[in-house]
Amino acid sequence: MLERKITLQKAMASVGLGTQPQSLINGKLVDGNAADIDLIDPYTKTKLCSYGDAGAQLATLACDAAQAAQSGWAKATTAAQRGQIMQDISRAVLSNVEPLAQIEAIIAGKPIRDCRIEVAKVAEMFAYYAGWADKLHGEVIPVPSGHLNYTLREPLGVVFQITPWNAPIFTGGWQIAPAIATGNGVVIKPSELTPVTTVALVKLAEDVGLPKGLVNVLCGLGPTAGQAAIEHHATRKVVFVGSPATGRRVATAAAENLKPCVLELGGKSANIVFDDANLTHACLGAQAAIFSSAGQSCVAGSRLLVQESIYKKLVDMLSTGMKNIKLGDPLDEATELGPISNERQFEHVTGMITQAKNEGATVHTSANQASGSGNGYFVPPTVLDGLANTATPAQEEIFGPVVTAIPFKDEAEAIKLANDSSFGLAGAVWTADAGRAHRVADAVRAGTFWINSYKAIHVSSPFGGSLNSGFGRSSGTDALMEYTSAKSVWLDSGTTPQIAFGYVP
Ligand code: NAD
Repeated sequence: MLERKITLQKAMASVGLGTQPQSLINGKLVDGNAADIDLIDPYTKTKLCSYGDAGAQLATLACDAAQAAQSGWAKATTAAQRGQIMQDISRAVLSNVEPLAQIEAIIAGKPIRDCRIEVAKVAEMFAYYAGWADKLHGEVIPVPSGHLNYTLREPLGVVFQITPWNAPIFTGGWQIAPAIATGNGVVIKPSELTPVTTVALVKLAEDVGLPKGLVNVLCGLGPTAGQAAIEHHATRKVVFVGSPATGRRVATAAAENLKPCVLELGGKSANIVFDDANLTHACLGAQAAIFSSAGQSCVAGSRLLVQESIYKKLVDMLSTGMKNIKLGDPLDEATELGPISNERQFEHVTGMITQAKNEGATVHTSANQASGSGNGYFVPPTVLDGLANTATPAQEEIFGPVVTAIPFKDEAEAIKLANDSSFGLAGAVWTADAGRAHRVADAVRAGTFWINSYKAIHVSSPFGGSLNSGFGRSSGTDALMEYTSAKSVWLDSGTTPQIAFGYVP
């Protein structure tokens, strides 16, 4: 294994952080004093550092701080000023792409080139919602009584956001930007496995003018820090990005406290290829759909549905092409596929491959070695052939570079198989027939659907799912609605009050 020139500590120091994760509360970096949490490098399996769980105590302080800062942000700062600060945050993120990408690559195990793109997308998110800050307004409604009736779109107050380990800074920016553009205060709890880039992002934002305490980051565990933040009296909404199992627990805790939530959960998306498709493009699309980010993507195209007449050809193309994908050190510029991000997930992915074998799958796998080290949590690109859509690996989220290929006869069967899933997040169709493309896009249950494409997403477009993929929407103008509520104001402009009941005193 080559000695790495870049270390986590160096990258953290260059964005003003100490040597281990600390929560950011009211503008101060604070150590947690609950149970110790270890961060493990998924490429070397060695310990990077340890830190104390923020626990309920810091969660309470974080919610208090967000509540105190929020009213000033919403009322004393003009909408245009909020937008200008957010533009400055966007520029600050762009000036720090390299250290942020390095931290993400080391801790989450994602290839550095992918991390750079995700950080740049975070800058784009702040720029996009900066533009909305002074363009969100209510409407005048022509009520029949003659009152002047108008609506105000008001911030909710404090929102609590919970994010996963697979795209830490991306999902952080995705939720923080619309929340603050609309005047809210934020407490965010990134995954305890990957908390650092979220702290770095908010610290950079504070350095360029974000009021301290408006956004607070909790480095810690869900059942302790997370639960306390859900229960805190200031929290008005919970926005959760993560697995269906945890989403259910979070939604239950929110409901017990009568708080609404948005759930952005997992998927088992169908990538459908018809025999009239450009097969080279479809094969490239299938690779990107499941092998990029080592398949640790909520929208991964983990079920590849292929028309019978081209099934063998496409599976052969995919299996041959994947042998050229470069596995290696996430910090290596050439690496296309890094290790699985953590031990628990590695055990899950390898367990699902064993399960597939037990259920009768033929397993095509590329034996490519990781450059310089075979030590990390690597799973090579894998295609599971010969399973029915009802098999466990075709129904459960694997969240690794593992795709189940399934043949279909015709359009009706493709749609039936695509919808035979407990998820409803994303999907795609590859075909030269425009009419069929639209019919399939219409019929498949998904919050995002691609035609002759895969994985295109943008902050300006809505994103979300249904069933086990969750509910509510992130991104685009839909997120502005999620982070605000309408107030209806009635003004009686007549000379005599329009009140149907009452006695003149
Ligand atoms: P996870 O559910 O294990 O954890 C997500 C977050 O929930 C973490 O921050 C964790 O600390 C927190 N948490 C755990 N228990 C909690 C509790 N009791 N109360 C409050 N918070 C708690 O998910 P993960 O393994 O980190 O991420 C992978 C999952 O995320 C996959 O299912 C993936 O599909 C999903 N995901 C969805 C989207 C989307 O937009 N739909 C995006 C990215 C990832």
